[in-house]
Amino acid sequence: MNRIALPFLALFMLTGLVPPAAHASGQAEGRYVTLHYTSREHLKSFNEKLDLGRKLSGQVLAKNIVTIEDEVVAKLDTVMEKVEVVLDMFPDNLRISVVLLEAEGDVSRVFAQKYGKQASHIAYYSLSEDTIYISVKDTRLAVIAHEMAHAIVDHYFTERPPYNIHELMAQFAEKHVTD
Ligand SMILES: [Zn+2]
Repeated sequence: MNRIALPFLALFMLTGLVPPAAHASGQAEGRYVTLHYTSREHLKSFNEKLDLGRKLSGQVLAKNIVTIEDEVVAKLDTVMEKVEVVLDMFPDNLRISVVLLEAEGDVSRVFAQKYGKQASHIAYYSLSEDTIYISVKDTRLAVIAHEMAHAIVDHYFTERPPYNIHELMAQFAEKHVTD
């Protein structure tokens, strides 16, 4: 934010108007999740692809939804709650970020920058940042459930389980999220 933009932004906020730039990127807060996106298109596309199925969708509708941001965070919170039930793990202080990226190449690029390793990812959970990075193009309920399971498992155990066990629990959650 530069010094010239600040008074304008304050003015917009006072008048209740939204500056044009705010339509591009933003964040939204849920109970468990802070969602970060860089374009409205990503947000819309993510929302369309995140089909929770009949049972879980009913829980989303019970929440207070006005905007598309409300709907997306309500869906993410609903999936988190369901994965907790599936794993029977309810860690305290569970709060994570979800970052929407356009495609697999973007997720792989972020991964390579952080870890210095080349790997193809449609999504991954960063243990050190408490953050899920996900490709909007490849978004499905199973993918979100899998990554959220990694977050839950990581917050639940004081000593981190071995990698294969971590992965096994994430796969279990992915498989049973629609039960
Ligand atoms: Zn995994």
